[in-house]
Amino acid sequence: MLQTEFETAPEGAATALELVALRRQIDALELRFSQLAASFDASRYWDYDCSNSAMDWIRFNCRMTSTAAADRISVGRHLPKLVESAEAMGTGDIGFAHVTVIARTANTVKSFDETALLPLAKENSPGMFHYKCLHYRHSLDAKAYTDDQERLAEERSLRLSTAEDGCLLISGVLDPVGGAVVRAALEPLAQPSGAHDDRNREQRMADALVEQVTDGKPANIQVTATIETLKGLAGAAGGEMEFSLPICATSIQRMACECSVTRVLLSQESVTIDVGRSKRVISSGLSRALKARDGHCRWPGCERSASMCDGHHLVHWINGGPTDLDNLVLLCRRHHRMVHEGGWQLIKTEHQKIVTIAPTML
Ligand SMILES: [Zn+2]
Ligand SMILES: [Zn+2]
Repeated sequence: MLQTEFETAPEGAATALELVALRRQIDALELRFSQLAASFDASRYWDYDCSNSAMDWIRFNCRMTSTAAADRISVGRHLPKLVESAEAMGTGDIGFAHVTVIARTANTVKSFDETALLPLAKENSPGMFHYKCLHYRHSLDAKAYTDDQERLAEERSLRLSTAEDGCLLISGVLDPVGGAVVRAALEPLAQPSGAHDDRNREQRMADALVEQVTDGKPANIQVTATIETLKGLAGAAGGEMEFSLPICATSIQRMACECSVTRVLLSQESVTIDVGRSKRVISSGLSRALKARDGHCRWPGCERSASMCDGHHLVHWINGGPTDLDNLVLLCRRHHRMVHEGGWQLIKTEHQKIVTIAPTML
């Protein structure tokens, strides 16, 4: 009977059992490793062996990260106070990852009591348990928790540098509050939107950052290009923009299409000229009418709000397209880019429906 059940079990069932059993054995070894790590720390052999600390010695000799080594020493140190936690780990009710969180919490509070945390550990995943332990720490000592947050805020930094190819490199650390503000602003904008959204999460976050920074308003940037560049003629130089290397003609065309960027157009002799300004500028009245008519990005399936959209000329004004309601549609920044730089085509049907044609189909 048992044999029959095993034979009909879904593929992977035996592996699932083995994974759980193996993890319990590994956890038991981790606990033993932690005990040894703490006694090694107390022995100060690491000092005799010319290391700065037991953590450093373990990190180097046991091929571990600093955090992993520190966690093991911490678990080992607190283990005499973690009798019930060790028992719960032995029966599989919690994992070594939970014990690590308990030990980290014991490091930071004075009157530590494992019985207050153990029920939470049994109910929650290690990640969620870590979160709940932070609440526990705050409830025991709000002042110490505040001091910790202040220390984290002091470590904030943001570095911007331009790579040789013109890309902006961003690196930095934000304190939990600042980080949460950034996440709250970017996450809604980073959701997949509209048809044909094949961007990965990192690409969507990058787009969300640019979109958020411009806050739905045109960026206050000056773009300089010749008429030849704007028309995309062969042999024309690239366009110029503050803080950027030369940019391609299709990007210039996109920025010129949404007429509100500050623009200086140059003739080939580098004389500033103004091409059909009265024809291309979307007046505030026309902009209001466009937003009221379209309501949001007109790309099929995209609902990015009107305030985050550009007015796109179906026939570019540089090619004689009029700046009027009939020739304009709202497009969010990403879809506007897909049309100009990506080569997608937008067709308006007689029923005012917008249809997209992929570049490969043209
Ligand atoms: Zn456009
Ligand atoms: Zn869109």
